[in-house]
Amino acid sequence: MSTIAFIGLGNMGGPMAANLVSAGHRVQGFDLDAEALGRAAQAGVSAAESAVGAVDGADIVLTMLPAGRHVLDCYRGPGGVLAAAPPGALLIDCSTIDVADARAVHQAAADSGRQSVDAPVSGGVVGAENATLTFMAGGEETAFARAEPVLAAMGRRVVHCGPGGAGQAAKICNNMILGVSMIAVSEAFVLGEALGLTHQALFDVASAASGQCWALTTNCPVPGPVPGSPANREYRPGFATALMAKDLGLAANALAESGVDGELGAHAARVYAALAEGSAAGQDFSAVVNDIRARSRRPDGTPPARGEDGAS
Ligand code: NAD
Repeated sequence: MSTIAFIGLGNMGGPMAANLVSAGHRVQGFDLDAEALGRAAQAGVSAAESAVGAVDGADIVLTMLPAGRHVLDCYRGPGGVLAAAPPGALLIDCSTIDVADARAVHQAAADSGRQSVDAPVSGGVVGAENATLTFMAGGEETAFARAEPVLAAMGRRVVHCGPGGAGQAAKICNNMILGVSMIAVSEAFVLGEALGLTHQALFDVASAASGQCWALTTNCPVPGPVPGSPANREYRPGFATALMAKDLGLAANALAESGVDGELGAHAARVYAALAEGSAAGQDFSAVVNDIRARSRRPDGTPPARGEDGAS
C-alpha cells in the first residue's frame, strides 16, 4: 500500500482516485472545486485543504488537470508540489497536455531530484469509473517500473512509450489518426448519399475492404450499420467533440513545433475547433458528419442529392 496524493478530482480524476482507494492505497486528494473534493471524500479519499496538504508524506503524487498550464502552476511556486512533496516522491501526470509542457514538467521534476512519468489516458469517464483506462506512459525505465502497478489499478492496459513526453506524443498521434479518419469516413458517407448509395451498402463494402478503420466499424458516424455507435443515440458521447478539438489542437501545436507538414492533421484541428464552438461541442465527435452534410448543401438550400439523413 502506498500513500498517494491525487490533485484534480474532476470527471476523470474523481473515479480514478476512488479506484486507488478500492485497491487499498491511502489517497490524499485535493481539488480547487469543493464539490469535486466532497464527492471524492465520499469515495474514501482523504480530503486535503491544499496541494501542500495532499502531498504530505506521499510516495506518489498524481495530477489529473485540464491543461499544461494547470500542471505547471500546480508543480511550481511556494505552494506547489515541487516545493512540498517528499524528496523521493514519484510524480505522475495523467492529464492530456502539450508535449512541450510535458517535457517542461519532467525537467522541473528532474531539477528537484525527483522521478516523473507522463501517463495520459484513453477510455473516457466510463473507463475511469470501471478501471479500464489505457495509459500511455513516458519516462525512465525505473520511474515507469514504480508507476506501473499504480496505473494498473486504474486501467486495463499500461504501455511504456519511451522517455519523458513519449506518452503525450503517443496520445496525440493516435488521436490525430482518429480525427482525420473520422472526417474521411464522414465525407465518404455524405458523398455516398449524394451519389445515391445507401449507408449500409457503403458500410458493407468499406468495412470489408481497404477503407476499414475504427471510425467506420466501431464508431460509425451514421445510424444503422453499427447499432452501438453514438450516431444511433443522437450523437451522445462517446468521445465529445470538445475533447477531440482539444487533442487535435495539441497535435497541431506539435506539428508546428516539430516542423512536420501534417496538412490533414492541421485541417482536422481546424474542423473540430470550429465544431466545438457550436452546439455540437458536447456531442460525440462523429457528429462531424452532420457538419459536412450541412456544408454540402447547394446554394438554394437543398441537400446534394438523395435523402440528407441517408435514409435512401
Ligand atoms: P475536469 O475539468 O472534470 O477536472 C479537472 C479538475 O481539476 C477540476 O475539478 C478542477 O477544479 C481541478 N483543478 C484545476 N486546477 C487545479 C489546481 N491547480 N489544483 C487542484 N485542482 C485543480 O476535467 P476531466 O474531464 O477530469 O479531464 C482531466 C484531464 O483528462 C484533461 O487533461 C483531459 O483532457 C483528460 N482526459 C479527459 C477525458 C474525458 O473523457 N473527460 C478523456 C481522456 C483524457
